[in-house]
Amino acid sequence: MPAILQLVDVWKSYDEVKALCGLNLEVFRGEIFGLVGPNGAGKTTCLKIIVGLLKMDKGSIMVNGIDPTIHPYEYKRLIGYVPESVSLPDYLTVEELLIYSGKIRKVPNEVLKQRIDSYLKIFDLEEKRKTLILQLSRGMKQKTAMASALIHDPDLLILDEPLIGIDPAGQHAIKQIFNKRVEENKTVFLSTHMLDTAERMCNRVAIIHKGKNVATGDLRHLRRLSETGEDATLEEVFLKLTEETRMEKKE
Ligand code: ATP
Repeated sequence: MPAILQLVDVWKSYDEVKALCGLNLEVFRGEIFGLVGPNGAGKTTCLKIIVGLLKMDKGSIMVNGIDPTIHPYEYKRLIGYVPESVSLPDYLTVEELLIYSGKIRKVPNEVLKQRIDSYLKIFDLEEKRKTLILQLSRGMKQKTAMASALIHDPDLLILDEPLIGIDPAGQHAIKQIFNKRVEENKTVFLSTHMLDTAERMCNRVAIIHKGKNVATGDLRHLRRLSETGEDATLEEVFLKLTEETRMEKKE
């Protein structure tokens, strides 16, 4: 099965700080894939490199077999991205932003209108349609950013800590959206600290630590790999695998 997202030997340093040290990842169509790791593991750096906000020092990335250095427009069309700290234009209304996002992604008018109506409903933002982004709460801004990232129906939705700051109804809506995307053979790739959320939501996870992939797989595979037992939680598996890496580094 060809990967929708493939990272091969990706390196990134910020001066002396090595953020990614030969990271390899393969994510397949129709899965909800979680990137988990301790603070400073390199998750945000990884996501920013995939979406083109940062340049890697070395390595290669493909989305659906497309190399962003050769076909940047085709590559970006496949991706929807929601950053950890959402920054939206305050001077637009919610509806104006969604129209703008749809137009730059060349979504046909009739489809765009339907999608805007649908996402405003799903995210409980109908009343805020004509409200300036400046006047939204933080969670509402996040939900607006998510609707904006989804407006062109991307094959690969990439989200950095998507559930932080979202109320339970919003979290439920997001989970439903993710499940629907999987049904449509689309892919969700998210980073999170919330291991219980990753355990419940993701089909597979990659545990990264100090810029390297420590382990990838579903929970059963990771339990076997970490020898934590059949009932171990992702948190237990995570602590064992990242602890082993810390010990290896000290030796
Ligand atoms: P967290 O879970 O805390 O959000 P993360 O896994 O997303 O962390 P990154 O933000 O990718 O980790 O950071 C990886 C490493 O790179 C850290 O050591 C961090 O201090 C460093 N780093 C990140 N951004 C910069 C920057 N702009 N300049 C210098 N160092 C940076």
